Amino acid sequence: MTDKTQQATFADLGLIPALVERLEVLEYSQPTPIQSHAIPHVLDGRDMVGGANTGSGKTAAFSLPILQKILQQGESNARRGNFVSHLILVPTRELASQVAYNVKSYSYHLRDKIKTVAVFGGVSVNPQMQALRGGCDIIVATPGRLLDLVSSNAIKLDQVKTLVLDEADRMLSLGFTEELNKILALLPENKQTLLFSATFPEKVTTLAQHLLNDPVEVQLQSAEASTLVQRVFSVNKGEKTAVLAHLIKQHQWRQTLIFVNAKNACNHLAQKLSKRGITAEVFHGDKGQGARTRVLEGFKSGEIQVLIATDIAARGLDIEKLPVVINFDLPRSPADYMHRIGRSGRAGEVGLGLSLIDYDDYHHFKVIEKKNKFQLEREQVEGFEVEDDQSEAYFLPMKPRAKPAGTGKKKKKRNQ
Ligand code: AMP
Repeated sequence: MTDKTQQATFADLGLIPALVERLEVLEYSQPTPIQSHAIPHVLDGRDMVGGANTGSGKTAAFSLPILQKILQQGESNARRGNFVSHLILVPTRELASQVAYNVKSYSYHLRDKIKTVAVFGGVSVNPQMQALRGGCDIIVATPGRLLDLVSSNAIKLDQVKTLVLDEADRMLSLGFTEELNKILALLPENKQTLLFSATFPEKVTTLAQHLLNDPVEVQLQSAEASTLVQRVFSVNKGEKTAVLAHLIKQHQWRQTLIFVNAKNACNHLAQKLSKRGITAEVFHGDKGQGARTRVLEGFKSGEIQVLIATDIAARGLDIEKLPVVINFDLPRSPADYMHRIGRSGRAGEVGLGLSLIDYDDYHHFKVIEKKNKFQLEREQVEGFEVEDDQSEAYFLPMKPRAKPAGTGKKKKKRNQ
């Protein structure tokens, strides 16, 4: 393996001046670990399987070498018909627009040479069809809309030279397996494939084995974790909202992303926080694309300080330097836990991933810890200490599911 350390510059990694100069303009002073490890291999044409969260800088890791390929091989001049040369598949529309935005920003000065188009569902197909006319160099797509465009002949996939599967675990857990298989069947055998995933459940490993040819493996989860502080607070049942409001007021976080498990829970929690003097916006699948974009912009700009979201809606949100992510409801799967906290501590920033657990969450949080191979001390919030009988239960081994007698019934009187 090439000995590229984290101190290497983008030029050291083999990128050409046209791209390095642009990165200087974007103030990317140094490659992130995934960029240092991945870029030389992707430039060499190797297949790759990369373990990295959103926030690690993986978009640049896969897209800069693709841009370089297009420039060096003069592929763009060969753009014709409705073919596409490089396909980036992502699980959600938000991620599609963000990845496309990043790719376009890396090649903004080359926009007459390199054409990147984003296609995703939930919006009218016509502008996307128009954008694809005459072919494109890079397409960033969600699976369903891509297949729609293929079936209406707006795009042809048989000239694809690079396939990127971004957030492969999420793609499969969102149920895109069938669409993915259809797309894979349309691609040529001979291509470079890069697969990125935050976690590696069996489905992803099987897909990687099937798809990749002698891949380089880049696994950076541990480096990621160092930029993230995880904490877990034990709370009494029925007191999560009060604890949450207390923490938000106490810490005055600049931006807080709160996860709940259902769309109506978003609205419900926003109302309850509002009664406690905290304004929060919601971000879920029932919101139209326009509303989602407005909320996202407001959150990015700092106008909205508290955002309550479901997993599906929040997946792939690109918000720089997000200081805090809070699990109000625990995610159903341990993999989703990693996805959620991956929203904070981005690109070297220290972030906080915080979970509120009551007695009913206790066992599930243990499973999350075990699967993700970490263990956290259960902390208490001053003024909201868990009742004695309950706190004892928090420290029992994993088995008990039945509540101890009296739990949740007698409430400790609080002097506030
Ligand atoms: P990603 O993991 O690709 O979603 O990137 C996360 C964020 O980090 C994005 O907002 C990028 O613009 C930013 N970023 C990526 N690479 C670098 C870098 N080398 N230096 C500074 N910021 C970066």
